[in-house]
Amino acid sequence: MIQNNVVDKPVVTTTRREEICQIFGETYNPELWNDWRWQMRHRLTKLEHFQQVLRLTPAEEKGLAIAPEKFAVAVTPYFASLLDSEDPLCPLRLQVIPRSEELLVDAADMVDPCGEDHDSPVAGLVHRYPDRVLLLALDSCAAYCRYCTRSRLVSQGEMYPVTRRLDAIVAYLEEHTEVRDVLISGGDPLLMADEPLDKLLGRLRAIPHIEFVRIGSRVPSFLPTRITPELVAVLRKHRVWLSLHFCHVRELTQEVAQACDLLADGGIPLGSQTVLLKNVNDSEQTLKQLFHGLLKLRVRPYYLYQCDPVVGTSHLRTSVQTGIDLISKLRGHTTGYAVPTYVIDAPGGGGKVPIQADTLLAYSNGTAKLRNWEGEMYTYVDPALQ
Ligand SMILES: *Cc1c(COP(=O)(O)O)cnc(C)c1O
Repeated sequence: MIQNNVVDKPVVTTTRREEICQIFGETYNPELWNDWRWQMRHRLTKLEHFQQVLRLTPAEEKGLAIAPEKFAVAVTPYFASLLDSEDPLCPLRLQVIPRSEELLVDAADMVDPCGEDHDSPVAGLVHRYPDRVLLLALDSCAAYCRYCTRSRLVSQGEMYPVTRRLDAIVAYLEEHTEVRDVLISGGDPLLMADEPLDKLLGRLRAIPHIEFVRIGSRVPSFLPTRITPELVAVLRKHRVWLSLHFCHVRELTQEVAQACDLLADGGIPLGSQTVLLKNVNDSEQTLKQLFHGLLKLRVRPYYLYQCDPVVGTSHLRTSVQTGIDLISKLRGHTTGYAVPTYVIDAPGGGGKVPIQADTLLAYSNGTAKLRNWEGEMYTYVDPALQ
């Protein structure tokens, strides 16, 4: 049982779920609603779907009419039920409903901001850092984040599923004995059925020098009922770590709490990644609520990302200064467990660069001048005998 103090959000009403089921001419049935495959088959993808359950603004209507040609729109019924039907600035709505601003291209915008395609030795594998690789599992997600860093690949239907590329990937990894760490991301790997996922993980685990296997997934946020005891057993068998993706405390529902409990009780170490987004989570209070909420679910905030300069996302991006200021308001003011590392994935393929306000003001002749979380100065002196 989930303790009452773990999540404190109001439960979504059955009426809301009924409204969403009616889009597809169905009546609400809790058993089907909780079936992740039913959820995937009943995703909201079109203007007409959203019109029936949200009071759309002209900017959203235009976005929904035009954006799908560039980057797919899909929202699971579960996640749609969490959207505020009246408030266009609802922090969940901003993440998944396209707006006309997506058609604007800023001078800094890029198609492949992190330069992943450049570092790809085999289709679907990015090898940038010395000891670890990023494996792109498939090209679909449960829902599409409007700020997706891989919108050039995801939902475009040009990437073969990993099962068809696996031999080439495994051959590369077998040959590259320096790779000890594989991060499977995507497209969302947890949309794979248990069996092919088990097979993929088994192939990776059979490579002796691969010590650490992680999956990056937003399924626990968009489709929490996908987290079944059977899936947890597969993840546990292969000793997988999970990096989840949450941007706002309103995502931390009872269903999500249950999914995280299943995973944590199943022995799966849980981290979370958050993208800093304008009007979604760019305030001290919002980030604190999110990170504290995650700790309650036994999820450790891992990275806070500066939003990548992906084409058509400038309306969702904050300045770097905003990120620095926000992290300064967290660091020291709350436990380090609740403070992720704020990073910019350097455009052009430089990798993740950690950013924080200066805390080491000067360091010379063995003397470090430090600034603490309250802005006060301290000195640390190295031992004289070395
Ligand atoms: C983020 C990332 C990784 C993993 O980095 P960690 O700092 O270990 O989480 C690996 N490869 C690529 C290309 C990445 O973008």
